[in-house]
Amino acid sequence: MAWLVGYPRDKVNWHPAINEEKCVKCGMCMNCGRKVYEWIEQKPKVVRPNECVVGCTTCANLCQGSAITFPRLKELRKLYEEHKIWDAVKKDLMEKGAIPSGSGCCGGV
Ligand code: SF4
Ligand code: SF4
Repeated sequence: MAWLVGYPRDKVNWHPAINEEKCVKCGMCMNCGRKVYEWIEQKPKVVRPNECVVGCTTCANLCQGSAITFPRLKELRKLYEEHKIWDAVKKDLMEKGAIPSGSGCCGGV
């Protein structure tokens, strides 16, 4: 899957943080298929932060306590722009045939 295309994941600041005072222990965050969380001592813990898919916020959307937050998207966009990660992702997807080559925004219009 073309997410970072070789850019080191550990240099990308993107992972959930739990506000324990807000957490109602609903368990919804445990549905994360990346095993970012573990249930330890009757509450969720972020144990594998770098397994979080960069840009994903699914667990925060499902969280019944509004207890999960992420770093600012603005900083993530800046990093992607500075390191030309968007370009690398697009190139990779084109090479895999996932998007047509030569198309620009809005189908090249
Ligand atoms: S944002 Fe997505 S990948 Fe990251 S921990 Fe939440 S559900 Fe898992
Ligand atoms: S989804 Fe939110 S409220 Fe529910 S257990 Fe996880 S952090 Fe706590």
